[in-house]
Amino acid sequence: MRILVVEDERKLAGAVQKGLEADGYAVQLAHSGEDGFYLATTQPVDLLVLDVMLPGRDGLEILAALRQHGVTTPVLLLTAKDTVDDRVRGLDAGADDYLVKPFAFPELLARVRALLRRGRTEGETVLRLEDLEMDVARRLVQRGGRALELTAREFEMLEYLLRHVGHVVSREMLARDVWKATLRGTPIDNVIDVHVARLRRKLDDPFGRKLLQTVRGVGFTLRGGDAA
Ligand code: CA
Repeated sequence: MRILVVEDERKLAGAVQKGLEADGYAVQLAHSGEDGFYLATTQPVDLLVLDVMLPGRDGLEILAALRQHGVTTPVLLLTAKDTVDDRVRGLDAGADDYLVKPFAFPELLARVRALLRRGRTEGETVLRLEDLEMDVARRLVQRGGRALELTAREFEMLEYLLRHVGHVVSREMLARDVWKATLRGTPIDNVIDVHVARLRRKLDDPFGRKLLQTVRGVGFTLRGGDAA
């Protein structure tokens, strides 16, 4: 896990770096907002610890610029003042959490852990089931190392099933959440069945194990472990 710490007070920055490194994180330091912005936009960073009071562009400006730039990395703000106004401004600018100075190091560590945990579950972009792997962000699907060519609709269906692995997905759920259909009935059910059959041909037929199962009278489920 890579953490970028943007803090102009060098002593504090150094202490934070040491502490985080002792806990197993890879830490990079930036002593100005500009350097922090540059590093956050040019390299992979899992978490940003960002001081608000920085010379030049302050932490809130940097944060707003990063969010505008499409950077979704979780941000923990370090603020000197604990006023409601400050908190609101920080959260409005796109911060995920904040810590008031002076703080005890274990508290920083606890916030960092919580944010990294949250980032992992919410930002999950690679979904897996046995030898099936879907990279949601890059819209790539492969099974057993072979790329599957899916249509946009098949991709959405498979993503939905993967996000509900082990649970039964009804035609009604697919109609509502994948087709965004407000009316449910025979025509949409038939369309869904046709798409499921096509998806199954690509997903399961060439492979030894069946992942997509029909649950008679209910819907479908994606699960591992069944022999074809
Ligand atoms: Ca400062």
